[in-house]
Parts: sequence; C-alpha cells; structure tokens
Amino acid sequence: MTEAPEARQLVEAARQLFVAGVMSHSGHANLSVRLDADRFLLTPGFVRDLEPDQLATVSVDGQVLAGELRSVSAEIITMHGVVYRARPHVGAIIHTHSPAATAFAVAHRPLPCRTEPMLRFGQPEEVPVVPWGPRGSDVSVRGIADVLERRPTTAAVLLANHGLLVFGPDAAAAGHLVVAIEESAEAEIAAAAIGGAVDFPAGALDAVRASIARVSA
Ligand SMILES: [Zn+2]
Repeated sequence: MTEAPEARQLVEAARQLFVAGVMSHSGHANLSVRLDADRFLLTPGFVRDLEPDQLATVSVDGQVLAGELRSVSAEIITMHGVVYRARPHVGAIIHTHSPAATAFAVAHRPLPCRTEPMLRFGQPEEVPVVPWGPRGSDVSVRGIADVLERRPTTAAVLLANHGLLVFGPDAAAAGHLVVAIEESAEAEIAAAAIGGAVDFPAGALDAVRASIARVSA
C-alpha cells in the first residue's frame, strides 16, 4: 500500500526480531510506526516474510484507512492506538510474546532494570505489569492507559498473562529495546538459580549518561 521510509523501517525491525531470536514459537508479533499525529502503519496479522506494501494504514482512533488487516489484527489496533494517543513522541510500537519477558508477564512480576543494555537502550526503570483483559478489549486498553499515566517515563509494559509491549522513537529503537528486555528477563531467571540478580549501585544511570557523553563529544 505504501513505500514510505517508515514502512521499510518497520519491515526491517520485524526481520531483526527473528534474527535476534526473541520471537516465541508461534512467530506472533505486531509492529506499527507512526506516520503523523493521526495515522500509523500496522502489520497485517503476520510478520514473517513481511513486505512494505502489506502494511495497513490506521488512524490513532482505530479506523482502517488503507490496506487490509486479518480479523485478528483488528483487535490489536486499539492496543497500538492507545499508546500513540498517550505518548505524542512515540514513533513505533512492537508487541511480542518473547518467551522470557512473557514469563514475567505470566508471573505478574515487573521486570527490574538490572542489565546494562536495558539501562542504555531506553528502559532505565522496571517494566510495569498491566492487568489482564482480553486483547483489544476496553479493560485491556484502559489498563494500558492507566499504567502509562502512572509511569510517564516507561518505554515498555508487560501485558499480564499475554506478552510484551515496547515503544520508542522509531522502529529500530523499539526493536533494540525488545531485545534488551528479553535478554534482561532471561538473565533474571538464570540469576535466580544462583542467588538472584542484584540491583545496580546508586547513580548507575548517571554514570552511563556521562560515559555516552564522553564518547560522543
Ligand atoms: Zn499478543
């Protein structure tokens, strides 16, 4: 439907999720990128072997403007729309069932920020859990909106009994954060067997910022 640069970025981000090995067995995910204040591109109901012209154009209040969505995707429009409406600077959103992150979602356990990649790639705080509601339902969407309001700087939420929802300035950044979160969740679970993960020392984020500023100066 479209060959906008945003469409190619989204397709590449989807491909990278498979390359990074953060997909669940089903290969299920949905991704979107913002076109402007009112519209975004959304994957059509699958992400494997996706092509840019297969993306649908959707309004932030849930209307399909161009392209076609499989019926399962109609349910997830609102899951993306609520984030774009709540966060004007978000440029892309990725939802996956990445296995280790989903383990935290199933356990209703927020994922702490205790790894360097998560600290650096946009989530220097724990990933909160949104209470369960059927996918795309008012309960689920309201739950996401509530958590985004309570946690104004979080770039990701865990959807209880479901999976992960990550957002960022663009598709590549959101994809990197999905990978960082999945790695962190794996490390937390592995560390639990040897005494448990330990928090960063106080001031860790400031130290990372200072380090980044030094190398980019
Ligand atoms: Zn899902």
